[in-house]
Amino acid sequence: MDIFERLESNVRGYCRAFPTVFETASGHTMIDESGREYIDFFAGAGALNYGHNHPVLKRRLIEYLSGNGIVHSLDMATSAKRRFLDTFEEVILQPRNLDYKVMFPGPTGTNSVEAALKLARKVTGRHNIVSFTNGFHGMTLGSLALTGNSGKRAGAGVPLSHVSHMPYCDYLGTEADTIAQLERFLEDSSSGLDLPAAFILETVQAEGGVNVATSGWLKALAELAARYEVLLIVDDIQVGCGRTGPFFSFESFGLQPDIVCLSKSLSGYGLPFAITLMKPHLDAFDPGEHNGTFRGHNAAFVTATAALDEFWRDDELSRKVHRDAELIRDTLLDLATDYDAEIRGRGMIQGIQFETPDVASEISRAAFERGLIIETAGPKDDVVKALPPLTITDEGLREGLGILRESVEAVMSREFVDSNR
Ligand SMILES: *Cc1c(COP(=O)(O)O)cnc(C)c1O
Repeated sequence: MDIFERLESNVRGYCRAFPTVFETASGHTMIDESGREYIDFFAGAGALNYGHNHPVLKRRLIEYLSGNGIVHSLDMATSAKRRFLDTFEEVILQPRNLDYKVMFPGPTGTNSVEAALKLARKVTGRHNIVSFTNGFHGMTLGSLALTGNSGKRAGAGVPLSHVSHMPYCDYLGTEADTIAQLERFLEDSSSGLDLPAAFILETVQAEGGVNVATSGWLKALAELAARYEVLLIVDDIQVGCGRTGPFFSFESFGLQPDIVCLSKSLSGYGLPFAITLMKPHLDAFDPGEHNGTFRGHNAAFVTATAALDEFWRDDELSRKVHRDAELIRDTLLDLATDYDAEIRGRGMIQGIQFETPDVASEISRAAFERGLIIETAGPKDDVVKALPPLTITDEGLREGLGILRESVEAVMSREFVDSNR
């Protein structure tokens, strides 16, 4: 028995789906101890939008460390933090006419969500939050209460409360008007819905199965929020930082959420880092009221600043995302036509859902055997989710998509044989 099985907790997960020991990585390639190369279409679940060990980010980090740049500082002011804030304001906020204050919660996505919830409840004096079916917002109790998945919820061991789950965009089919339904619940004082402090949503539900909210739905939700003075929180942890094309996934819809959660690819280098953005009038925490030891990860400030400099001072990366998205979509569309599957996605998060739920996991396994790392998502892990680094080369993307196609063909021909036995 190896040390992972012997010593590491049973809770370990991804190492079971991708059973090898990885040693090095660069760009879209991960290499295991035996020297075998894998194309990475998982990208740290969206934490590696710029690939592994991007050379520019790495150089800036090494220079910073070599110069004895401060690494840990609680939330004291540092030059690295100032450079990050200056750059974030100049490169991201100002060009988009966004007026937000920046809060540093703990370094993970769920920390950003917890801060957002606590803030929304404090500002409004209300306890309830509306989240949406199939949403995923993290694993700590507050975030987990927002999360739809019953398996994940069950792990809490206590009742998860103070959240009402409402149907996401096409949850009831494309014909149903889930906004009108939500509005009816809000306007009717006898609906049983406590007026919420906030709506929280992902514009594309990533873990929930690559469910895409339409522009009309998002705009209507924002209007509803404004009308009822409910705060709008966008959890852009997985689909922000360029995953759908623009830096924020909501930019193209003219939305200005009251609160925005960012993490995953924010550091650009896979270092833990999260922020919670809030409209200035919502900046209501007292000094130190929401605290934490690791709220000044200076190494992450350095790589995050480098990523903003490298990728967000022009729209080259956004344009590349749109181009590559088309190639991914075309490939999935071909497969969907051949195998009667459904495809969904926006930008470089694209999913394909087959009729038989188990097929997705089999495809992921078949792909791994052929040198491609690709994960499943959705309530029954029934969606194969393509999430390559945004910076992947054309060659890497084509090769990865080729392996995906082969894997689907292999699994589906086996399925066909099985069902005709
Ligand atoms: C990953 C994720 C989170 C949680 O982030 P962690 O760093 O795992 O705590 C929250 N929301 C969304 C949309 C995510 O994809």
